[in-house]
Amino acid sequence: MTLSKALRSISHTLSIAEIDDASTEAELLLCHVLGISTTQLYTETERALTSVEINNLQRLIQRRLLHEPVAYILRYCEFYGIAFYIDERALIPRPETETLVEKATEIYHHSPSAGSTIADIGTGSGALAISIALALPQAKIYATDISASALQVAEINCRRHQIDSQVELLQGNLLEPLPKPVDMIVANLPYVRDSELQALSPEIINFEPIIALGGGKNGLDKIQQLLEQIPGKLNHGGHFLLEIGQYQGEAVTSLISNHFPQASIELTPDLSGIDRVVKVGV
Ligand code: GLN
Repeated sequence: MTLSKALRSISHTLSIAEIDDASTEAELLLCHVLGISTTQLYTETERALTSVEINNLQRLIQRRLLHEPVAYILRYCEFYGIAFYIDERALIPRPETETLVEKATEIYHHSPSAGSTIADIGTGSGALAISIALALPQAKIYATDISASALQVAEINCRRHQIDSQVELLQGNLLEPLPKPVDMIVANLPYVRDSELQALSPEIINFEPIIALGGGKNGLDKIQQLLEQIPGKLNHGGHFLLEIGQYQGEAVTSLISNHFPQASIELTPDLSGIDRVVKVGV
């Protein structure tokens, strides 16, 4: 079988299984198994696949047909233009979370006194902490997670990007493991409502760590806990940035004003126009 034929056939198999982005995923799987670039995929169209390559491809396609996310199959994902290792121990970084990186760098550049120490709370794969660290090489980053196994993934990524000394990984609940108050807190905490969990796609609910998604009855349990822990952990004049879910803007804003009546609060939409990031100045 030639490359071009394999590409068409995989793409067809995935699309009849109603897998979104079937042709992109077919490209990814094929490039991964053959160890080639997308350019090669389209310039070496007549290259013949070996029987070993065909077997390997079939195994990966079977996994994808069982709804395993392609990022877990490839042990790879991209976030903020950066390549990350990923596996089932951590949530796959979502493109909408990139808004948090942009906001964090904006705050850092606009408030010279703030932002020299930043904490990423619930870091998972470390994608957010590492992207911020690479964008702000002068900042010291703490990255916490309650899940020791998620932190193993973050550790792999820190080593891969050679920033072990800039990013310190700490295991524990939210802000508890921080050794000292910080200038900025960023957090993509679990915020999915209990009632919405079952409606998530099989890719999410059957494969991703539920601990990284479920936020209790109204989705705001973890955000509420974080707000309770902030006093004493965030320096005066500091900021915190939270990712939130659809329709949570109003509820989160009122929770924040209850805890911090003087705070300035700003909502920023993601690329789909959904309020996604809450920026708070205290
Ligand atoms: N945005 C995630 C999803 O698509 C939820 C992430 C979270 O709860 N922080 O399910």
